[in-house]
Order: sequence, then C-alpha cells, then structure tokens
Amino acid sequence: MKAELIAVGTEILTGQIVNTNSQYLSEKMAELGIDVYFQTAVGDNEERLIAVIDIASKRSDLVILCGGLGPTEDDLTKQTLAKFLGRDLVFDAQASQRLDEFFATRSQYSRTPNNERQAQLIEGSTPLQNTTGLAVGGLIEQDGVTYVVLPGPPSELKPMVQDQLTPLLSGNQRLYSRVLRFFGIGESQLVTVLADLIDQQTDPTLAPYAKTGEVTLRLSTKAANQAEADEKLEDLERVIAEIVSLEGLPLSHYLYGYGEDGSLAQVVIDLLKQTGQTITAAESLTAGLLQARIADFAGSSAIFKGGFVTYSLEEKAKMLGLPMAELEEHGVVSDFTAAAMAQGAREKTGADLAISLTGVAGPDELEGQPVGTVYFGLATVHGVQTTKVVIGGRSRADIRYIATLHAFNLVRQALLNA
Ligand code: ATP
Repeated sequence: MKAELIAVGTEILTGQIVNTNSQYLSEKMAELGIDVYFQTAVGDNEERLIAVIDIASKRSDLVILCGGLGPTEDDLTKQTLAKFLGRDLVFDAQASQRLDEFFATRSQYSRTPNNERQAQLIEGSTPLQNTTGLAVGGLIEQDGVTYVVLPGPPSELKPMVQDQLTPLLSGNQRLYSRVLRFFGIGESQLVTVLADLIDQQTDPTLAPYAKTGEVTLRLSTKAANQAEADEKLEDLERVIAEIVSLEGLPLSHYLYGYGEDGSLAQVVIDLLKQTGQTITAAESLTAGLLQARIADFAGSSAIFKGGFVTYSLEEKAKMLGLPMAELEEHGVVSDFTAAAMAQGAREKTGADLAISLTGVAGPDELEGQPVGTVYFGLATVHGVQTTKVVIGGRSRADIRYIATLHAFNLVRQALLNA
C-alpha cells in the first residue's frame, strides 16, 4: 500500500511550528508495513489544498491529512476534502454529544455555530473519535483511495492514530524489524559486500545505517506474527553472517549485537557478569571515557572496582608502578607502554582483565606517530597482548570515542574466545 501524508497549516509553511505529526505518522505507517512515498505541507488555502489532494489521489492508495479540523474559518480540511469528493458534511452523533458535554460543564466558554463544525464528518466516513479534544476525525474510501482526516494538535492526533486508526489499517500483517550491529567494518565495505542482496531485496528488506565507529543493518519483513517474522529474518541473517568481508572474514566476525539501543559496552558488561569476571582499565588518551561508560550501566559495581587515568608519562610510572626509564625509552605511544599499563593495572587491582589505551588523539602528531594511532593492551590470566589501531580522518572527540569502542571490542573477543 502506497501512502501519502498531507499536513495542513500555514504555520508549518511559515516555520512557526515543526511538522512533527508527519514524522510520527511516518513512523506509525512503517510499523504497519505501509510505505509512505510522499509528505506534503500545504497552507490553509482551499485551492492549493484541492490541488494537493488531487495529485495525492492519483498516486497513492492511502492519503492521510492532518490539521485544520478546528472551529475557525481557516480550518478547512474536512470541507475541502468533502468538496473534492463531491460529498456533504454530516453531524456525527457521538462527537455532537461530546460538544454538548463539554459546553455544559464549562460555562466560561460560549458555544458558537463554528464549534458545531468540529462534530462534522464527510458523509460515508468511519468516525475516529477524539478522546482528548473536540474535532472528530474520519476515514473514507472512494474510487480505491482511502482518505483519513486527523486533528492537528499532537495530543489529539496521537491517541486517535494509536487507538482507532491503527486497528483499521493494520489488516493481518505488520512490519517486524531486526537491527544487526557491526563493529570493525565500515558502512561502505558492508554495502559493497552486501550489494547483491541489497539489489535483489524484496521481503525481507535490508538497510544499512552508519553511526560513529559502527554500522547497523535493519532487516524488515511483513508478517502475520512474530514467529513468522523471526523465521524470515533468521534466514536472511544466516545468509548475511556467512558473506565474506574484503579482509576474508565472515560478517559474523563483526556482528556483535542486536537492537536499536544495543552497544558494545552493554555486550561486554553482560559477558563479564555471565562469566563472573571483573575488569579494570588504565587510560591515557581517553582519560576515563571507557571507565565512565562502564559506570553508565546499573549494577556495574559487580564487574568494575576501579581503574586508572594516567595521562602523563610520570603518572603512568607512579600510579601503575612502571619503570620510568623504560617508558621513556619506548615512548608513550608504543606496544611496550600499552602492555605495561595493562599489566600494571591488573596487578594493582587484582581484576581478572585489564585493558589499556594509549595513543594520539590529535590535533598534533606525537612521537612521530600520526593522529589516530592507538595502542591497546589486554592483560588476562593468560598474559598480555597488544593491538595497534589507526583511526584515520576523525576529530579528536571521535578518535577518543572510537578508541573506547575498539577497547570494548577487544575485551569482547577475549571473553568469547576464552
Ligand atoms: P484546533 O482544533 O486546535 O484548531 P486543528 O485540527 O484545526 O486543531 P490546526 O489548527 O491546524 O489543527 O493546528 C492546531 C495546533 O496543532 C497548531 O497550532 C500546532 O500546535 C499543532 N499542529 C498542527 N499541525 C501540526 C503538525 N503537522 N505537526 C505538529 N503540530 C501540529
């Protein structure tokens, strides 16, 4: 089904209000598996509104209009649609009763003939009652096109959509989505290796999104229920997981989690809790960013007792008990320093795992190493390993943030491979 949204109101065109209704409606339609192909905003003007409805009626199966159901002269949505469809306006009994009750209990408001317009419907419509206001909405089908009129105030529109419109439109299928989260592979590479699947997609569909330092892939399908959807999404996920990256690794290697709000930090904390292990960190360029992220999660005290922010070489030596001369000899940005920091942090705290980060956040290079060079040390009961990553072409803030993602990912891989 192809849907089109028309927001009516001169205030939208003049920038006095933001058209949040269209955003809300688009989201709701997506949940129902209805494709929205067009969004239009038009002023309170009969001629231009007729022109917009005319275009919509020729290219869409569902036309949803919002705004302009109020009592004033410039509220002309229902009247204009009625004119376009060649139908009359009639009074809806329930909406009229609401008006009666409203004015009976509020003597300070005087009821005008204009108020009556709010209880009017286009003849033949299914009424959509307004539980938080006075203007009744409606749904009507003519010549294969379904037209819906909704009130402008979001406090009236949202409950009407949620409680009355959605059940009328949902039929027996709705849209189910699954979000796959990847780390360590860029969006462009993911799109390249998935090009065939993306080109051939029908149902389920897949859409990649880039976020700072990571990529998500949304798989969506229309199904009658969750179980049916899961089966289709599972099949596609299996195909995706086996596709090989340009580095020769299956995409399952980069897939770390699910959901819109999932995060590497969350995955690591869950793994630590499941395995009953504790973590500590010694941070140089990130200066506590990673440890602050750990503490974002409720219950993190079970897996994190404390750690170190060792920005200068002196503090690395002093706080972690490391040999100053050797640190100076190898430099801050080095395998040696990363390994020593991780081991020092693990020994000082007695944590099961210690991760260290030392590198060049920029804007200037350091010790001849380019901006974005970061060394990580990971100390466990099995010893210490180091990893070098170069985070290219990023701002200082992004480099520091992406460095924490790499650190969490190294810990995640160590916990999974243990
Ligand atoms: P009323 O009965 O209040 O006159 P109405 O259905 O006639 O409602 P409008 O007069 O078009 O609606 O708008 C009333 C208010 O609703 C606007 O001032 C604005 O605050 C809000 N509104 C209208 N359209 C939108 C929209 N597209 N997005 C967000 N808010 C909107």
